[in-house]
Amino acid sequence: MKVYILQLGEMANCTYVVEHKGKALIIDPTWDMKAIYKLIEEEKLTPEAVLFTHGHYDHVTGSHELMTKYKIKGYINAADAYNSNLPEEDLITYEGDYKTKIAGLNVEFLSTPGHTKGSVCIKIGDILFTGDTLFPNACGRTDLPGSNPREMSKSLQRLAKLPGKTIVYAGHSYGADGTGNTTIEKEVKNNPFIKMALREPDNFEDII
Ligand SMILES: [Zn+2]
Repeated sequence: MKVYILQLGEMANCTYVVEHKGKALIIDPTWDMKAIYKLIEEEKLTPEAVLFTHGHYDHVTGSHELMTKYKIKGYINAADAYNSNLPEEDLITYEGDYKTKIAGLNVEFLSTPGHTKGSVCIKIGDILFTGDTLFPNACGRTDLPGSNPREMSKSLQRLAKLPGKTIVYAGHSYGADGTGNTTIEKEVKNNPFIKMALREPDNFEDII
């Protein structure tokens, strides 16, 4: 398995292309479809599905065109299908946690609401794609329509229980090193929002 990272658009969004035996899963394809097509063509990949971490426009813009081009569908949590504005026929929806096999890979969608109701983190092997739930030293905004700081606190507590070696690829390249990459171990040690969620779950809502 190989992960290609594309930083696209003016909001430092990260689109990830996960390759396994020539097949590809595309996570949060957005903004610049040509850049994604170029990678797919250069690496001779066959796209099998799109996986969305949530439905915000900066994670889905242009993905309808991509799904039409490759005749593939996008997995999205049912609670976020509404805010993606994508046509129903593009989408495969599920509720809560969901496990499936795509492109020969075991894919786990972990329900992690807080940023949006239907936000998920996508676990493939020991890699976790966190969308706008967890960033290096930060978490996603919880002041938007559909956000809920109390749920974010619970979701961060959940992520903190994953194995420390789990590699994190976030939905934007907000890290100090200009990437969205980190590990659960680093975040449990350094991330002030995870620390707050673990130490002061009852006050999280007021402090965040
Ligand atoms: Zn978002």
